[in-house]
Amino acid sequence: MAKPNLEQTLIVFKPDALQRGLVGEILTRFERVGLRIVATKMLAPEKEHYYKHYEDIGKLKTRAGDHIFDITLEMMNAGPVIAMVLEGVESVALVRKLVGSTEPKSSAPGTIRGDYSHMSYGYADTEGKGIPNLIHASGDPEEAEKEIAHWFSDPELFDYEALHEKFTR
Ligand code: ADP
Repeated sequence: MAKPNLEQTLIVFKPDALQRGLVGEILTRFERVGLRIVATKMLAPEKEHYYKHYEDIGKLKTRAGDHIFDITLEMMNAGPVIAMVLEGVESVALVRKLVGSTEPKSSAPGTIRGDYSHMSYGYADTEGKGIPNLIHASGDPEEAEKEIAHWFSDPELFDYEALHEKFTR
């Protein structure tokens, strides 16, 4: 993993992805661009775990305020999630591109959020609900490093060679 530009990034399949049965379909999109899965686990984290993830690392409470923060945590606590670490060339930006923007309504067709969800900020805010946008993905390499250390221990990250990697790295 020492090569420059080779990055690891965190994705989390949110409760809505599991409850809608979309995990396999979404994961296929990451596998088919040639990203390597280096870690995975299913879990139902406590509130403190999400506090660290969304505020200490992601600064969501600071950026969006208490209300958005609280409803996001409520949404994440609605069921188990599946966390994964993906590795590849500039994978943090690549995964964000595949995921699309935060609001499904303005997420481009072809992105995960654009293709599998359609919620708007307006509707979610009126209903007082978090935006169920299927998946979390690290925002930048520094955030990715902190998030991976928060969700996984070193022995949970695996190294192996994927057969297609002569074309993808
Ligand atoms: P992203 O997940 O695209 O990196 P943020 O880190 O800003 O976006 O927000 C984290 C999550 O909080 C979003 O994915 C979404 O589920 C929820 N969220 C953010 N803003 C809002 C909002 N205005 N209304 C409802 N939920 C929101």
